[in-house]
Amino acid sequence: MQFKAHVLGGLLAGAGMVSVAQISGYTSASVSDLQKILERPYQTDGDLPLLSGLFLLTLFMSLFPDLDSASVLQRWFYRIILIILIGLFFTGQTGLFAAVTFVSLLPLLHRHRGWTHSKFTPFILAILFAAILEFNRSANALTGQFSPGNMVDWFYTYWIYVLACVAGHYTHLLMDWQF
Ligand SMILES: [Zn+2]
Repeated sequence: MQFKAHVLGGLLAGAGMVSVAQISGYTSASVSDLQKILERPYQTDGDLPLLSGLFLLTLFMSLFPDLDSASVLQRWFYRIILIILIGLFFTGQTGLFAAVTFVSLLPLLHRHRGWTHSKFTPFILAILFAAILEFNRSANALTGQFSPGNMVDWFYTYWIYVLACVAGHYTHLLMDWQF
């Protein structure tokens, strides 16, 4: 399946995830939120930034499987990742820095349509992400220890992000017909 078709699929899946977040009550964004964003464009809390993040994550995951082959998509992906890593590093977000670094290297390790096109991939990525963030938290906490229980809490709180990963990724697999 072509790159453009996957972008279109990702945009639709992203719109779907935004609807799921609103309908399930995870977010309750309204027109007044839009006004707040216009007044303070750089704020990262609130429902609209969360919905934008969900939309982008879904779109990202619908393109992720094809990062395993040299392409225009791959080049742009690593340019954007570099900018994100610079931002995370200089704002001191070492946990996210490490997690994004690990995950973004993974598609390069295997052949085209290898593990990135597996049905288990979005779940493995989500577990890996939670493990890295929890490991980083426990390493930084003075008395903290790595706790799988905290990873479970992470999934409980951020389930909508896991769902966005799966929705985006499965949209890609469906379009490639890898099921
Ligand atoms: Zn593919």
